[in-house]
Amino acid sequence: MSLEGARAVVTAGAAGIGRAIADTFAEAGSRIAVCDVDEAALAAFRESRPDAIAVAADVSREAHLGAFFEAIEAAWGGADIVVANAGIGGPAGPIETIALDDWKACLAVNLDGAFLTCRWAARILKAQQSGLLLLTASTAGLFGYPMRSPYAAAKWGVVGLMKTLAMELGPHGVRVNALCPGAVEGPRMDRVVASESQAHGVDEAAIRRRYVDGVSMKTWVTAEEIADAALFLASPAGAKISGQALAIDGHTETLAP
Ligand code: NAD
Repeated sequence: MSLEGARAVVTAGAAGIGRAIADTFAEAGSRIAVCDVDEAALAAFRESRPDAIAVAADVSREAHLGAFFEAIEAAWGGADIVVANAGIGGPAGPIETIALDDWKACLAVNLDGAFLTCRWAARILKAQQSGLLLLTASTAGLFGYPMRSPYAAAKWGVVGLMKTLAMELGPHGVRVNALCPGAVEGPRMDRVVASESQAHGVDEAAIRRRYVDGVSMKTWVTAEEIADAALFLASPAGAKISGQALAIDGHTETLAP
């Protein structure tokens, strides 16, 4: 599954799932551009990939994202793959306890950030009449997710954006898909488990068990498994796949077992 000669953009690409996607794409032969808000993670990324474009940018800030894509266009003259990957977990709790500011902060990164990234991607890919726009949604964009209403609402929005843009951009030769990861081993889910443990009033081990109980294959997933699915979609093997929300999760039956 070669990406030889491709130019790939990954938001929030300095750590976590975005970093795994950037590394997998680079190993498949693609040039890489990432943005992130974590300066330390960006510095580590630059050190291991000195040829990559790595820019500090918050996806929810229009001017930041504009500067990132302008730098890409100046360096590469376009892009072939854009992964709108940035997202934050947002608050956990019954809806009556969720503060409006926390709701807005969650939607700002997960949904405004996806919109702004897609708008830039659409301009570039449509002009080229080719390419892939890949959005990182979540199984939270496919199921109800008690105590996580802002995140679920944002990720259902991401899936709706993907479906709509697949229709808008398909006639221009541009494919649009979404990745829906299940619970990914790592520091992000450690934080989510801690906050859900508080919201549900049960211990962390019980929250971890719930994620496994709701999944047919009784498993969590790894960032590398998400990156492998992204590579399949980005490679020639995915040439006719568009408008799909692909779950990489061991088959979620419910998020509320
Ligand atoms: P993470 O919390 O590990 O963060 C990855 C990177 O995102 C970090 O380097 C962070 O600095 C960066 N980031 C955060 N806010 C940003 C912003 N506003 N602008 C730019 N960069 C920003 O996250 P992750 O687990 O790698 O998640 C990546 C995507 O996958 C998100 O959209 C997330 O919602 C989704 N997802 C994650 C899981 C999981 O279990 N980790 C499951 C389903 C979906």
